[in-house]
Amino acid sequence: MILKVALNVPIDNLFDYKIPSNNSIQPKQGQRIRVPFGKQEKIGFIHGIGSQTKVPASKLKPALKIIDDEPLVNNELLDLISWVANYYHYPIGEVYATAVPLYLRQEKTPKIDAMPTESFQCESHKKLTEEQEQGFKKLLSFFNQRQIVLLDGVTGSGKTELYLQLVDRNLKKNQQVLLLVPEIGLTPQIFERFQKRFGNTVSVVHSGNTNKQRAEIWLKAKQGDVCVVIGTRSAVFTPFKNLGMIIVDEEHDPSFKQQSGLCYSGRNVAIIRAKQNKIPILLGSATPSFESLMNAKKGKYKKITLKQRVFATPLPQTNIIDLRVHSQEQGLTKFLLKAIKKHIENDNQVLLYLNRRGFSPATVCSGCGYIEECPRCDTSMVLHKRNNRLVCHHCNHNKPWEKICTECGSPSSPLGEGTEQIELALKNEFPRTSIVRMDRDTVNSKKQRTRLLDQAKSGTGQILLGTQMLTKGHDFPNLSMVAIVNADQGMFGSDFRSSERFAQTFVQVSGRAGRRKTVGEVFLQTYNPKNPLLNKIISQGYNAFFSEAVLDRKVPQWPPYSHLALLHAQSTQKNSVFDFLNTVRKKGDAINLGNTMLLGPVPSPIEKKAGKFRGQLLLLNTNRKELHRVLDKLCWTIKNTKKTSKVKWSLDVDPIDLS
Ligand code: ADP
Ligand code: ZN
Ligand code: ZN
Repeated sequence: MILKVALNVPIDNLFDYKIPSNNSIQPKQGQRIRVPFGKQEKIGFIHGIGSQTKVPASKLKPALKIIDDEPLVNNELLDLISWVANYYHYPIGEVYATAVPLYLRQEKTPKIDAMPTESFQCESHKKLTEEQEQGFKKLLSFFNQRQIVLLDGVTGSGKTELYLQLVDRNLKKNQQVLLLVPEIGLTPQIFERFQKRFGNTVSVVHSGNTNKQRAEIWLKAKQGDVCVVIGTRSAVFTPFKNLGMIIVDEEHDPSFKQQSGLCYSGRNVAIIRAKQNKIPILLGSATPSFESLMNAKKGKYKKITLKQRVFATPLPQTNIIDLRVHSQEQGLTKFLLKAIKKHIENDNQVLLYLNRRGFSPATVCSGCGYIEECPRCDTSMVLHKRNNRLVCHHCNHNKPWEKICTECGSPSSPLGEGTEQIELALKNEFPRTSIVRMDRDTVNSKKQRTRLLDQAKSGTGQILLGTQMLTKGHDFPNLSMVAIVNADQGMFGSDFRSSERFAQTFVQVSGRAGRRKTVGEVFLQTYNPKNPLLNKIISQGYNAFFSEAVLDRKVPQWPPYSHLALLHAQSTQKNSVFDFLNTVRKKGDAINLGNTMLLGPVPSPIEKKAGKFRGQLLLLNTNRKELHRVLDKLCWTIKNTKKTSKVKWSLDVDPIDLS
């Protein structure tokens, strides 16, 4: 008998071992196993059991110990892991390492208490509105037909209430539920709502958990001791005893996609998992991704729309401020300041959104026009006045701000505005108003985040200012005005998804205004007030915007009209990057590419990052299967090419960031 073992090493192979000597445990797939590996010992997982091996008998070693009597990784999860390794072309041992909590990969097993039996006074369900009721009925019938459902509902339309009532149905059938949410910032809120309904049968997995806590939740779910698991993307790998349904909230959110190592999409893996288990899956969002809307359009998903907010406040009114007419000072026009004044004088809250932290995104020389750059990256240095330093936001390289150009010695001055500057400007304008700024500079711990959010929610902070961090999911009852300080920055980015992202942020952030009593007002500062897409979102909403904006991708065949894979390479030597990519390109051309387009090599949009040169090849096909046929072959050829150790390469399947 040969044990095929998955080990956490960057080699895309299973490793063969004999049964340990004096072994008394029946080997099964999914058990942990300790094995000799070179001069070390490693803990891996029995992924397969066979009778044959290519390893010569003299080299075949016995494993040291089978750790578990019964599989730690159950069959269902094992199948999912295999699928992920295969689809993302990633070493299987490393996929196990992503799926199984660290604590359990160290041969430790926490003791799990049985589920406490204390009875719990649960909050009762809300009576559904008519629109919710209709949606709910449709949902159930689509689930019966084994359809993937996209719940497209404006913010405040009661999507979460539908999740709660769906979960309830599952719990009554003794089935478990997995709820994926994009970010930790959103989790406490949704967790509270679930806990109020279902008590302590709900567990939340998040980055604040200790390794041991994660392992405990993981095992409890596997044993059926928790009923609902709420977590961010990696929670998609939680094993369950009897999983009955998966919900992905804010399905459009880019944070479902891991951006390094195993670049998996938590949402997409969840869809596969639901398919493998033949269980229903619900994708919810107020601003669904273009991919999902396209799938709905093609009939691959069933779409349910909720158009009305539960508290019948109409959606806010949007005002465009034309920056060509209204001059701005420190990023704020007089027009905008007047509006802010009006709202705070009415004792309401105002939110300003700007996705740029620091004082100024750049500094420019008055003599030669040089924009101070990071010596290690292809980006400008960001001025932070708090400590008077120029900081690179890509590699964190920083130096004191001398106010002098490094090229010619002339005076240099700040260019553009970040949140730090806007805060100062607001403080000058409204000296007696309390301002809460939330960005990565003011929030670097969970405690700080909670403190600032509490101020924001209680209304202590009257002006809220921040980056993306502030915009998602939070419910600020007294908020009556939202301002998008610089709409152009998001709308006209270089990526083909820029306008989609902007539209999502715009809708999400404007949805924060006027959720309860008052009708909200939204202000948007732009130099492009006539831009047709911008006007589309404002006047006709996100879905109309989708129908129009998606067409821009049709001719170049960007997703959702195609599927992509990005082969990325980097090295301290520019030549090595391109030598490598050119070799891959030649090999690619030699295999039968069929309809797959192989584009590049080209330098990455950010060509140099942290001292490394970066380049890429892009693969594109309208047919996913075809694309993967080519990827299989291409990866195989790369792996069997003599290693140029100077180059690091990685493959990103379904990339969402091409920079
Ligand atoms: P969404 O998830 O779509 O943003 P929520 O489910 O959070 O919407 O609902 C918005 C608000 O309305 C919440 O405060 C929620 O408790 C409340 N709510 C939702 N459905 C109902 C209902 N049927 N009756 C009363 N209140 C409801
Ligand atoms: Zn200069
Ligand atoms: Zn840098």
